[in-house]
Amino acid sequence: MFGKIPIFMIIQPRMRGFICLTAHPEGAAKNVKEQIEYIKGKGEVAGGPKKALIIGASTGFGLASRITAAYGSGASTVGVFFEKEPSEGKTASPGWYNSAAFETMAKADGLYAKSINGDAFSDEVKQQTIELIKKDLGQVDLVIYSLASPVRTNPRTGVTHRSVLKPIGDTYTNKTVDFHTGKVSEVSIAPANEEDIANTVAVMGGEDWKWWIEDLKKAGVLADNVLTLAYSYIGPELTEAVYRKGTIGRAKDDLEATAFSITDDLKDIGGKAYVSVNKALVTQASSAIPVIPLYISLLFKAMKEAGSHEGTIEQISRLFRERLYSGGEVQVDEKGRIRIDDWEMDPKIQDRVAELWKTADTDTLPELGDLKGYSHEFHKLFGFEMSDIDYNAEASEMVWVDSLR
Ligand code: NAD
Repeated sequence: MFGKIPIFMIIQPRMRGFICLTAHPEGAAKNVKEQIEYIKGKGEVAGGPKKALIIGASTGFGLASRITAAYGSGASTVGVFFEKEPSEGKTASPGWYNSAAFETMAKADGLYAKSINGDAFSDEVKQQTIELIKKDLGQVDLVIYSLASPVRTNPRTGVTHRSVLKPIGDTYTNKTVDFHTGKVSEVSIAPANEEDIANTVAVMGGEDWKWWIEDLKKAGVLADNVLTLAYSYIGPELTEAVYRKGTIGRAKDDLEATAFSITDDLKDIGGKAYVSVNKALVTQASSAIPVIPLYISLLFKAMKEAGSHEGTIEQISRLFRERLYSGGEVQVDEKGRIRIDDWEMDPKIQDRVAELWKTADTDTLPELGDLKGYSHEFHKLFGFEMSDIDYNAEASEMVWVDSLR
């Protein structure tokens, strides 16, 4: 193990603000296992990918995409992510443990899975990924772009851009919840300036996705008829000032426009780029956006009541089976986007959320919203609150991703 001696420690959640500083390797493995079992239970994705590159593969929608590709159609997967490895007495970031578990399980099931841990925005990581694909897979037929990052250093200019989550035009005031305490309060967010907008587009817009595809194509590692996909979000009127009509929305507009430009670039090899609009879910990225956690806790309540609630794995399974690889034309909306946020945006659900929103406060939220569900999902991201894991027992934090030993 190259001096990585297993140390055993009791690993409990340690929260600071909206992040959890610890992660549980066995809980993370259980989470990955459950997602794998879900996909296996749904049966084969006929015509699904055989060789997939997932950029942002370690948590959230990217991890679910990797699992769906691997276990839905037996795809070999290369996963790129930016995670913290463990050190003695300090746990790794959750995506590290997820990836360790995924590789171990995939290998045991006879599936190729290798990972690259580094800054996906850099030229070096792009080059490293190309070399790995050339050496082991030759080409890939699916490229998923699922990065969520607050910062990007543009390798061509050397400039580091930081994204912000702000409204555009006016100060926005609405309710939000601290999901750890359940306290509902009012939050006011000052509007962004032009620089904020440009920086957010530079981080979360489509430029880096386009550069990835250009480099992969130039290197000859994209198969004929390759599909590439990035993820977007729209959401309701309630959140649009801070999301779709805010700085992040501008970045998503840019990402969505980039899909058309990539499709043009891929014409000669029959490739296509899509953006899929996904449902609002509890992930590390979405927990950091004001107002969104309150919306999500009410949304989960309404969708659970209606029996239409989904998590990342259910969403991506449906995306692969009913949209991307359904056997027919890929169904898109009037702006060319795949919509798997259809159940979230169902007017019945949205009317219910809007009604709950009016009276949601610290006292009523435990009853009106699914705050418990939110908090549980948040803990699960870090491998906590998983059933059958003894969190009072010692666990080894020194778990390694097999291909990164
Ligand atoms: P997430 O935080 O769970 O995952 C982000 C991934 O990006 C991780 O694998 C992380 O390691 C990787 N990453 C971040 N910075 C990196 C870097 N510099 N280099 C390499 N890897 C890096 O995020 P998520 O919520 O799954 O979001 C993925 C995409 O889905 C985003 O585009 C997001 O806007 C979109 N989306 C999210 C939601 C939601 O509610 N969470 C809804 C719809 C769409």
